[in-house]
Amino acid sequence: MSVSLALFTRDLRVHDNPMLHTAADAADHVIPLFVLDDAILRTGFPSPNRAAFLVDCLTDLDATLRELGARLIVRRGDPVTEVLDLVTHHAITDVHLSGDVSRYARQRQRRLGDALDEHGARLHLHDDVITAVAPGAVTPTGNRDHFAVFTPYLRRWTELPKRTPLPPPHRLRLPPRVTAHALPDPGAISRGSTAPDLPGGGETTGRDLLGTWLRDDVTGYADGHDDLAGDRTSRLSPHLHFGTVSATEAAHRAGRSAGAREFVSQLAWRDFHHQVLAARPACSTHDYRSRGDRWRHAPDELRAWQEGRTGYPVVDAGMRQLLREGWMHNRARLITASFLTKTLYLDWREGARHFLRHLTDGDIANNQLNWQWVAGTGTDTRPNRVLNPLRQADRYDPRGDYVRRYLPELRDIPGPEVHRPWTLPDHQRRELDYPDPIVDLAEGRERFLAARG
Ligand SMILES: Cc1cc2nc3c(=O)[nH]c(=O)nc-3n(C[C@H](O)[C@H](O)[C@H](O)COP(=O)(O)OP(=O)(O)OC[C@H]3O[C@@H](n4cnc5c(N)ncnc54)[C@H](O)[C@@H]3O)c2cc1C
Repeated sequence: MSVSLALFTRDLRVHDNPMLHTAADAADHVIPLFVLDDAILRTGFPSPNRAAFLVDCLTDLDATLRELGARLIVRRGDPVTEVLDLVTHHAITDVHLSGDVSRYARQRQRRLGDALDEHGARLHLHDDVITAVAPGAVTPTGNRDHFAVFTPYLRRWTELPKRTPLPPPHRLRLPPRVTAHALPDPGAISRGSTAPDLPGGGETTGRDLLGTWLRDDVTGYADGHDDLAGDRTSRLSPHLHFGTVSATEAAHRAGRSAGAREFVSQLAWRDFHHQVLAARPACSTHDYRSRGDRWRHAPDELRAWQEGRTGYPVVDAGMRQLLREGWMHNRARLITASFLTKTLYLDWREGARHFLRHLTDGDIANNQLNWQWVAGTGTDTRPNRVLNPLRQADRYDPRGDYVRRYLPELRDIPGPEVHRPWTLPDHQRRELDYPDPIVDLAEGRERFLAARG
């Protein structure tokens, strides 16, 4: 009897999962394992929102695996110790794992590979599960190890033949007497309250969302993706983060409309940031390109930004959307991040930390490197551009509906005037429970440009 082990991480699906597929094909029996990693839990990275979403994903995966003849084996502790325990008890020779890019994930891969070697077993890494194109699969000419500019990356990414999505395994068989813990509840992973309008997780939900998106909405994406009030993006990001939707399958099924092409290029942005982080793991905490910034320290301004009380309605609406939904529209992420780093001139790491605390899609590669892109310490070829929140609001929320949706205190101000409450007559303004702007936009911009020299 041969037994293989499929170690799930953030690839929590049975459809188009080469890691699970290969493990199932390679042996008579397979152990589908998920380890609640104590080292990650200690860092506090799994925030309440992500913990709740993760538990949905594990519950759904367990149910699907049962339909296929197995179940999810959940353990808690150090993944290397837990895998070795199963390897020893079930005479496993092959362990399958999806390759990932963060510093911690790579260290875990190395530790696991070395430990398995010592036990006469082998680790098989599958690098095209988490991203559509494996980090390092395309590199620039010369001896550079990654692309630092998106456009040439996209060209090569588009040309590269992608694999055809895989169906779920036919049938899975667990070996007898595998010991496991019960599925966790969110409180065992992270304490604290979740966002009131948090979306549900799991592959079943993710596949429904993908199907509806591709059938009804993707064609409008090219025109609609920046429309803040229209909310016309896929909202697939938490599913892509936890792997309940496959980026390869999403790209494969997207079609050829202008909207589909634009959507697929966003999936390439995701891969772009993953290949940067794979090559420069220190960028999760350090500037990719240092600009010599001496960021200001202003705890009151940081708190006003976090709470959505800066006095700039479009900024505050974005920050309140984050608190209410555990998600924020991409245009609002750009506006709020530019405001923090370039108008207030506060450290991008402060903003990235707050986003990671609340985003259900919170992801080291996408979050840290998008923050750096906006702060001008990353891969943006125009590092000193400053987004003016009023111009952004006029362009991307021309009727003010996005702001009214997330700022109930401004709900009665009609039309685009909602973007400038300070222009209302004094008596009306006094009745609003809404602050005056905490910074003058022109002064903030001058301060930033002077600091950058
Ligand atoms: C400051 C800042 C922080 C961000 N933090 C994260 C994060 O932690 N996790 C995360 O997944 N995305 C992050 N993004 C990227 C982007 O805002 C979200 O992926 C997107 O808003 C998710 O919504 P959606 O699924 O509807 O996206 P869609 O517009 O439907 O795009 C489809 C998918 O493409 C990917 N994608 C889209 N834009 C980007 C991008 N700029 N970079 C990388 N991938 C992208 C996402 O996986 C997304 O789900 C951040 C952007 C900024 C500016």
